[in-house]
Amino acid sequence: MSYILAKSKNEDILKAGECGGAVTSIFKYLLDEGIVDGVLALSPHDDVYDGIPTFVTNSEDLINTAGSYHCAPTMIGDLIQKYFADKKVAVAVKPCDIRSIDELIKRHKINPDNIYTVGLNCGGTVSPVSGRKMIDLFYEASPDDVISEEIDKGQFIIELADGSEEAVKIHDLEKEGYGRRNNCQRCDVKIPRKANIACGNWGAEDGWTFIEINDDKGQKLIDGAKKAGILETKSPNEAAIEGRAKVEKIMIKMSKKNQEATYPLVNEVEEWNRCIGCYACRDVCPICWCYKNCELSKSYFKDDIIASPMPIAFQGVRLSHMSFSCVDCGQCDDVCPMDIPVSLVFDKLQKKYQNRTGYLAGVSDDIKPPLYSPDKVEL
Ligand SMILES: Cc1cc2nc3c(=O)[nH]c(=O)nc-3n(C[C@H](O)[C@H](O)[C@H](O)COP(=O)(O)OP(=O)(O)OC[C@H]3O[C@@H](n4cnc5c(N)ncnc54)[C@H](O)[C@@H]3O)c2cc1C
Ligand code: SF4
Ligand code: SF4
Ligand code: SF4
Repeated sequence: MSYILAKSKNEDILKAGECGGAVTSIFKYLLDEGIVDGVLALSPHDDVYDGIPTFVTNSEDLINTAGSYHCAPTMIGDLIQKYFADKKVAVAVKPCDIRSIDELIKRHKINPDNIYTVGLNCGGTVSPVSGRKMIDLFYEASPDDVISEEIDKGQFIIELADGSEEAVKIHDLEKEGYGRRNNCQRCDVKIPRKANIACGNWGAEDGWTFIEINDDKGQKLIDGAKKAGILETKSPNEAAIEGRAKVEKIMIKMSKKNQEATYPLVNEVEEWNRCIGCYACRDVCPICWCYKNCELSKSYFKDDIIASPMPIAFQGVRLSHMSFSCVDCGQCDDVCPMDIPVSLVFDKLQKKYQNRTGYLAGVSDDIKPPLYSPDKVEL
């Protein structure tokens, strides 16, 4: 592992990028050199609450994807598995994205040789709907007037069209039930070290991206982008490296505190009894890859009266898969029509499993998940 500061040599990308535009520049290098078929990133549609997964094949279009969208809790892992499995793809990944990719690699659903993973450190995402409400309630501004947002030094900051800024402490927003999604408040993987590189603003100077290079492939990305003349780099000083490590430690400590506060409060059976078996949590879960041949769709779970399995049967089957492989991405919470804190239940059980076996989904290397096989087995 090594550290660099990097910034784009392309003026437009430098301006549009969140920090030094390093991520977008590396993507441009990969597309221009024909190393990948496309780049999977996000681009805003109507406004800042509208981050849409976008597959870019022409490097000129990359400029629309630059920047960080904190109100876009989009999951990338299952998109690769479902739509781009046969393509060479470069992809921007938050820690939960790379964790799901790692779990899918273990299940032979993604070929690691086909992907370049450019990680983004992540302090958390805000749900787009509650994000709008939050701005309405806590800021002297209309959500429609926000042209950009950022999370910095514990504050959610909005910028308005007239150039003015407003900031509110995330702690104060979360006390009132707003701010980062509940799973993000518990999430204790803040730097995506399974990605080839991990990029962020922690430890970075203004206009630069701080990059942790995690493997040889990551080093080749940096070397290639520099050689192509799109990226410049320099070494960060010791204080920056230490400062970044300190912030990471504090963020993890806060998440653990949150886990301790929320895990004991949830009663799994009570929550599951409200389940209407709509299948939304299964369909959106990045780890539930066998959706085409899913146990929950088989006829022995159905009878003449009940269209889908009883709640306990439904959740029991999900539990048998998720209790060791949930990556706490929160997609299931986002879609549940019954407001069941699905991720809280499965994340709590995954942590219990981790405490017994040492296996942390999408992070552990040495310990493998149950039923792991190094060979691909078609079901
Ligand atoms: C939700 C979120 C939270 C973050 N929190 C932290 C933090 O706490 N500490 C820290 O050090 N860094 C954090 N970052 C990373 C930081 O904001 C920059 O993204 C990073 O430094 C890269 O900067 P850049 O200028 O090189 O990237 P750019 O050149 O601007 O490229 C950024 C890339 O990320 C993609 N992207 C934007 N939003 C998302 C998203 N929600 N999901 C997936 N891909 C996305 C864009 O489409 C683009 O390809 C966060 C990023 C995000 C998206
Ligand atoms: S679960 Fe973790 S990695 Fe994913 S969006 Fe939330 S804080 Fe970021
Ligand atoms: S169970 Fe929910 S939180 Fe866990 S991986 Fe699946 S969608 Fe994400
Ligand atoms: S999304 Fe909610 S209601 Fe639908 S199956 Fe999952 S837990 Fe049940």
